[in-house]
Amino acid sequence: MEGLMMNYPLTTTTILEYGNSVYHHKKIITYLPDGSRHEYSFGDMYKRCKKLANALTQKLGIKEGDMVGTFAWNHGPHVELYYGISGVGAVCHTINIRLSLNQIEYIINNSEDKVIFVDASLVPLLEKIAPLLETVTHYVLINAPKDFSTTLPNTLHYEELLADQSEDFEWPALNENDASGMCYTSGTTGLPKGVLYSHRSTFLHATTIISPNAGNFSNRDTVLLIVPQFHVMAWGFPYLCLLSGSNMVLPSSNLQPEAIIKILIAEKVNKANGVPTIWLGVYHAMKKNPPKEKLALEEYLVGGSALPKSLIEGFEKNFGIRGVQAWGMTETSPLGTVSRLQPKHDHLSAEEQLAIRAKQGTAFPGVEIRIVTDDGTMAPADGKSMGELQIKGAWTVSSYFKTNNSESFTEDGWFKTGDVSTIDEDGYMEIKDRTKDLIKSGGEWISSVALESALMAHPKIKEAAVIAIPDEKWVEKPLASIVLVNEEDKILEEELIEFLSRDFVKYQIPKDYIFIKEVPKTSVGKFDKKEIRRLFAEGKLT
Ligand code: ADP
Repeated sequence: MEGLMMNYPLTTTTILEYGNSVYHHKKIITYLPDGSRHEYSFGDMYKRCKKLANALTQKLGIKEGDMVGTFAWNHGPHVELYYGISGVGAVCHTINIRLSLNQIEYIINNSEDKVIFVDASLVPLLEKIAPLLETVTHYVLINAPKDFSTTLPNTLHYEELLADQSEDFEWPALNENDASGMCYTSGTTGLPKGVLYSHRSTFLHATTIISPNAGNFSNRDTVLLIVPQFHVMAWGFPYLCLLSGSNMVLPSSNLQPEAIIKILIAEKVNKANGVPTIWLGVYHAMKKNPPKEKLALEEYLVGGSALPKSLIEGFEKNFGIRGVQAWGMTETSPLGTVSRLQPKHDHLSAEEQLAIRAKQGTAFPGVEIRIVTDDGTMAPADGKSMGELQIKGAWTVSSYFKTNNSESFTEDGWFKTGDVSTIDEDGYMEIKDRTKDLIKSGGEWISSVALESALMAHPKIKEAAVIAIPDEKWVEKPLASIVLVNEEDKILEEELIEFLSRDFVKYQIPKDYIFIKEVPKTSVGKFDKKEIRRLFAEGKLT
């Protein structure tokens, strides 16, 4: 028997309308690439979304189901594009500006973007591949001066496009299962793959992340969105801020630690998101140059790669700022798990509590996770048995865009993440490695993530990335590439081996160390192990 409740559409337009009706006075603050500050309200943004909707449908000929690309930093107009494009029934395809030009060309042609909205500062990248883009009819320039010169064909200026449009627009009735957004994976393993989010998955992801057990956002918060809008919809933050009534602060390209600290102070930001490399940078900058006043920042949500225990501890002890770890993938919208302590953990020692917070955490309601071992059986929830992490849920991908990819899914409908993990008795998941990064030495598995986290707890070490290298006797052995806090410091290898022997048994401890200036990073700021392996193989890891 069907329930007798309304079939109310869970769409991005529902989010926008709610944000406008309840929180029209809340602010969107942008720091533009030149460092200047722009502020307007959710209500102003709402009106511009309607102007944009008119421009998209009437001037640019965008129809329901069309793909519209964005190639832009985090800023107000990019938020307008999120809502305006999906609001007219088209798909907002956020293009990762840090992919290689070949990959960018591939994803634009593969998604068949009709129009691309591009930041003036990023135009030179697109100019290089524009002749190869098969489906793009117009480029709309954001933040470009009037006399901006470019070789891109058919260009329009964003502000001019909106200027003569009406603020009246009747949003079409949309099916909540229709596509609203698209993001390609960062292609660390082969070509990027398109993940097509639906209105419903976007809505449910955002509402769930708001709750206190999850991201804990409310109308008392001012949130800095460091995660780029060009990757996994900035973790859904442009949506959840409208639903929770949190002020949004957008840094565009001001992502250097000093710039972030300046914004945190100026805007009294109390919540933020970002990958660990960003927070490592901010932490070391604050240690070097302690801010004169205590920051309003209470909590930063971290994901994308493992949050080192030492960073959680350091931020908390020195600055009273809490790090909260989440795990996710482009394929999971992205947030799948989060690690927060529960009252039952209150009696534990600080060390034991830290160990739980350094795990990737429990699944959100609406998401299920399981661990499947090599022989295809389910791993027990004992915190020790390792296997592949699999996931299903209301915002998990069911199939990649235009790709036959049955190998990524199980027959009973779970998505195979490629992460090797454990789950403990309380459902806390811990990532040990990605399948391809695990080190198998003398038949025993070694977790590169655990070694990295331990090494980064050394006071002289800023970053540590561990890879497997060939070994005659053990087949593979770990090699640690290390970036020091102060370049002029020295650490002896014996000192590091001794340091690690507190937490690791002998065979797990790297005997090989390379001191480098910077760990190569992927397009989304993670340690690029593929690149480290390549540099090592070519003898260029110095
Ligand atoms: P890509 O898959 O292209 O690297 P994603 O941003 O989708 O891009 O990355 C997802 C992967 O990032 C996960 O499969 C996992 O390996 C890693 N990851 C994400 N969050 C965490 C975390 N908190 N700890 C450890 N690894 C993480």
